[in-house]
Amino acid sequence: MKKTMSHKIAVSILCLHIIAFLAWLELFKKHDWLLILGSDLFQTSAPLISALWLFNRYRKENGRNRNFWLLLCFSMLSYTIAMLIWMFYEIYLRVTPPFPGIQDLFWILTPIIGLLAFNELILKTNTSKVFQHIYDALIVISVTTSISWEFIIKPILEQSADHGILYKIVYAGYPISELALFFGLISIFNSRNIKLASKFFFLIIVGQFCFIVADTVYLFLVSQNMYSSSNPIAVLWNLGLLLIGISSYYSNENIVEIQMNINKHKTNYLREVRLWLPYLSVFILFLITIYDEKKINSLVVGSSISIFLIIFRQIFTRVHNEVLVGKLKELNIELDEQVQLRTKELVEKNEQLEESISNVEYLAYHDLLSGLSNRRYFEKQLSGALNEAKAKNEEMAILFLDLDRFKVINDTLNHSIGDILLQHVAKRLKACIDDKGIICRQGGDEFIILLPEGDRTKVILMVEKIVESLNNIFLIEGHELFITTSIGISFFPDHGEEVGVLIRRADVAMYSVKNEGKNNYKIFTPDMKDSFNRRLTIENGLRKATEQDEFLIYYQPKLELKTNKIVGMEALIRWNHPEMGMVPPDDFISIAEETGLINKIGAWVLQMACWQTKLWQEEGLKDLSVSVNVSAIQFMQKDLYQQVNEALTVTELDPKYLELEVTESIMQNVQHASFVLERLKQLGVKISLDDFGSGYSSLTQIRHLPFDTLKIDKTFIDDIVTSLKDQAIVKTIIELGKNLGLTVVAEGVEDVEQLEYLRENGCDRIQGYIIGRPLPKQEFESKIRQNIIYK
Ligand code: C2E
Ligand code: MG
Ligand code: MG
Repeated sequence: MKKTMSHKIAVSILCLHIIAFLAWLELFKKHDWLLILGSDLFQTSAPLISALWLFNRYRKENGRNRNFWLLLCFSMLSYTIAMLIWMFYEIYLRVTPPFPGIQDLFWILTPIIGLLAFNELILKTNTSKVFQHIYDALIVISVTTSISWEFIIKPILEQSADHGILYKIVYAGYPISELALFFGLISIFNSRNIKLASKFFFLIIVGQFCFIVADTVYLFLVSQNMYSSSNPIAVLWNLGLLLIGISSYYSNENIVEIQMNINKHKTNYLREVRLWLPYLSVFILFLITIYDEKKINSLVVGSSISIFLIIFRQIFTRVHNEVLVGKLKELNIELDEQVQLRTKELVEKNEQLEESISNVEYLAYHDLLSGLSNRRYFEKQLSGALNEAKAKNEEMAILFLDLDRFKVINDTLNHSIGDILLQHVAKRLKACIDDKGIICRQGGDEFIILLPEGDRTKVILMVEKIVESLNNIFLIEGHELFITTSIGISFFPDHGEEVGVLIRRADVAMYSVKNEGKNNYKIFTPDMKDSFNRRLTIENGLRKATEQDEFLIYYQPKLELKTNKIVGMEALIRWNHPEMGMVPPDDFISIAEETGLINKIGAWVLQMACWQTKLWQEEGLKDLSVSVNVSAIQFMQKDLYQQVNEALTVTELDPKYLELEVTESIMQNVQHASFVLERLKQLGVKISLDDFGSGYSSLTQIRHLPFDTLKIDKTFIDDIVTSLKDQAIVKTIIELGKNLGLTVVAEGVEDVEQLEYLRENGCDRIQGYIIGRPLPKQEFESKIRQNIIYK
């Protein structure tokens, strides 16, 4: 054990105390008063110091032996009180303290409380063992008491004649309680399954032994009226007290610990002593009895032999039992280990099983990409929530959310970026909804959200929060991605009472948003079903349309402001549906993009437009250029270059008369866009950036791409006459375009004021109803030929 500073101090105090006491007794042996005073002070301070040490230990102890230290401290305090009472008589009253007096009560209490303290250390689990210890202790105590009674106490009592019963009890009390403690100690520390902090135990035993010796001498001296406080025997008491106190420094951990492994080969001598001591003491008592009687007849011999035999039989049975118990314990421990091992294996297996079950459950109910609920799980949750809402008569909202133009990102960049984007979207949705609803990824870029909230204003606030949150830029692997979202909303019970119906209606509302320009939200209304059905009809009819020549191309003229001449036209597709009539491109281009049909349609437009332009050129409308729209999805296809090349080769149109209109969405991946555009430019065609300003392309990006034309989006032109802001924007775009050497075209010009403003600000070309609406080829041709287009 490592000796700490306080430990060293304690040892020094003990030594100094004993030496000083001895010195005092020697120095003042002739000064009665000083002798008594010093002796009393030393004898009072010793238990007090000891009590302090023990209390200190009690304070620091957290283990299960905490009470042991406290009781031992009380035992020392009891001794201190006894000494104080003694001092009161000797020093204050200056009389010999009475015997028995109250101080004797406290002295007898000292070992009794000590016994209680040690009782704390006995494992209470095995009651029969405890009884065995007590029984053994009783045998030894009764033997030693009867011997000391016979040879010490009785003669003293006889000499001192008429003393009351209390006198006798107190007299007998000392040896009985101290022997009980002593033997109790031995019994406890011999327990088979207790390991002892040996130095601690040794100090306690020695301390206790000092007491027994000192008490015996004391009793004898008292009986002879020879005792006084200054008697050197008091040093022995003090030593005992201080040894008990200092034992608290000799066990830094639990003073006892349970020993699980029994070493059967190791002989425990102390245990043997405990086993033998009761029999030995009985045997000694028997011998003394015979010796005392001094009469040996056949009865004495017979009873001696039979007692020996009984004792031997007892010992034999006990030893045998102990061996058997030991073996049993060993087996138990082995069994215990095996059970533990097996339990551990079972627990591990069980954990694996539970883990795989929960994995399977997780897979069955979650979308692995986003970690959100999947549709199946969501329907389950929704159905539960519906039942609850029905029972409570409450309303709820279902949101159907679809990212706009996600396909473009997915195809323009690569799918892994699309996946990461979906994860980010899921995160933002979670952040918006928090615990106010349940989100599910229904598949692709579609999400469904359940809001257990019937208040429409609150629902709209939440939806606006989502739209705004998703409108913020996404930074993914160096790409700045912009997405918008369309959200449809349905309410329970207004729009349906079943899971399927509510989701379908929110879906219908979402499509309605898509049809009306995306990036918005709408609450379901019954008339939306028609537009939804219309979308379904479009989706189904689109495939057939490509095969059955249902597409047409309309042409819209472009006017050069400087010369007031028509310099070209934009080819705009129309679909002449057998039932729905003329379907505008905004209604089917996005569906064509989603279904992948855009590629085929785009290739067809390219060829037809080139062919028509070439034809018109040959028929005298020289220098007419044509602009053809190229969808972002089409732009991503590897064969775009091939398509353009083929169209030019087949129609023999001079590439300089063909302009490809691309939108800002191709710039999601600038490197790829630059690569494709450069290749197309090698063919000799022109490139135009359509709807400039409506997307998120930055001016820096434009500078690095080989554009020839910049088309200002119609939205800026609409209010150009009235809005100063729009005027400023348009002016800047024109200036910027010019600085970059681009031709600037304004789209959607509808009136003269707009036209004049653009002319004044240096815009190169305009396109819009004021010049001419998109027209079928014949009408376009005749208008151009009649020159009835704006002059
Ligand atoms: P865009 O390329 O920006 O075409 C201009 C759109 O503005 C045309 O709509 C045109 O009719 C309309 N417009 C022109 N001037 C005015 C005006 O003064 N007032 C108003 N209110 N509108 C005007 P359209 O033909 O419905 O086409 C819509 C969009 O569909 C086009 O926008 C283009 O992005 C796409 N699109 C059209 N044809 C094709 C095609 O063959 N391929 C692809 N990929 N997309 C096409
Ligand atoms: Mg266009
Ligand atoms: Mg445009």
